[in-house]
Amino acid sequence: MSARILVLGAGFGGLELSTILSESLGDKAQVTIIDKSDAFIFGYSKLDVMFGRAPLDAVRLPYAKFAKPGVRLKRETITAIDPAARRVTTDAGVHDCDYLVIALGADYDMAATPGLENANEFYSVAGANALRAILPTFVKGHALVGVCGAPYKCPPAPSECALLLHDLLTSKGVRSQCEITLVLPLPSPVPPSPDTSKALIAAFTERDIRFMPNRRVTGVDASRRVATLDDGGELPYELFLGVPKHRAPAVVVDSGMAEAAWIPVNPRTLETKYACVYAIGDIANTGTPKAGVFAEAAAQAVASSLIARVRGEGEGTLYSGAGSCYIEFGGERVGRVDVNFFSGPKPTGAYHEPSLALRADKDRFGAARRARWFGL
Ligand SMILES: Cc1cc2nc3c(=O)[nH]c(=O)nc-3n(C[C@H](O)[C@H](O)[C@H](O)COP(=O)(O)OP(=O)(O)OC[C@H]3O[C@@H](n4cnc5c(N)ncnc54)[C@H](O)[C@@H]3O)c2cc1C
Repeated sequence: MSARILVLGAGFGGLELSTILSESLGDKAQVTIIDKSDAFIFGYSKLDVMFGRAPLDAVRLPYAKFAKPGVRLKRETITAIDPAARRVTTDAGVHDCDYLVIALGADYDMAATPGLENANEFYSVAGANALRAILPTFVKGHALVGVCGAPYKCPPAPSECALLLHDLLTSKGVRSQCEITLVLPLPSPVPPSPDTSKALIAAFTERDIRFMPNRRVTGVDASRRVATLDDGGELPYELFLGVPKHRAPAVVVDSGMAEAAWIPVNPRTLETKYACVYAIGDIANTGTPKAGVFAEAAAQAVASSLIARVRGEGEGTLYSGAGSCYIEFGGERVGRVDVNFFSGPKPTGAYHEPSLALRADKDRFGAARRARWFGL
């Protein structure tokens, strides 16, 4: 009988995992992947949408196009997970499996920051899309890019937001009437890479962007247009661009699998404490950042382990803890940081300065995954 593999979540991690299993296992496995949405969107596409660089329709990659031999993609909402029994309940029924992989990503905890529900955030698709109409109306005053908690997805994204906002205001000829502040609950923009952080801080200084490290936004009063910080200070604003505090999806919390907010795993094998149950990507506590490239690398390690187990030969490869993140510096230029969390006693991050060549590289990164996963 072929092995039943159930993948929860068709994001960066789930899509890559299911694609490799389809390529490698053929009819040796029945792979089912479940997601409540009808389309995948790259995290960085939210910046393209909010800054008017692409319409939402252009960046939605419909799951209807994800067609892989041996893989069934089901649009269902997961309502309960029993990891010991490897049984998953959805709004459409019950799924039992031999191997379970949890790739449900990170949700946003809007309630953790009082008042945030009345302000703007750019981390959800709806929030980024709403800002698309709001940003062109901002021509004067203080814009505050404010992060409400760490860890958050894609550590450089708030810095990218501030730099792209500078470009937008400059192109409209209103930059001199506006101030930009970035509030970040990290000591530097990209802590594992001092060179990248130095380059970003230099870019902020050149563009007169005020950088407030080691601070987070704890509340937003939209009626007074004031944000409160964790040191008790207040920052008035005319435009608030928030990053909500992150949390595990409620269904994971209810399953009892989350400890210290995320699912504990062996960081090299991605195994949870439950037999034949793995967790990958933003939901797993590996010590690596919440970013698509890391979810993908974790998926590759779990795929190799599942292939070895199903074939009954060999061993899986370990999660590398390495990934390359592109960083929008504005002016169409993109930088890159190659981070590795497991290669030495402390994380390393090699910096590549912004260029048009790296812009093309980032475009190729997206196009390769669109083609590989969706045939587009
Ligand atoms: C503004 C922004 C910019 C970013 N830029 C980058 C970047 O440049 N590079 C990079 O590598 N990463 C970037 N990221 C981060 C990246 O998007 C995430 O880290 C990545 O998507 C995580 O992959 P994942 O597979 O763990 O989860 P996700 O891709 O979030 O997938 C999780 C899936 O689970 C589904 N799901 C959740 N709950 C349920 C449920 N109850 N029932 C059914 N389905 C459910 C969701 O619908 C979703 O499709 C960015 C993120 C943001 C917000």
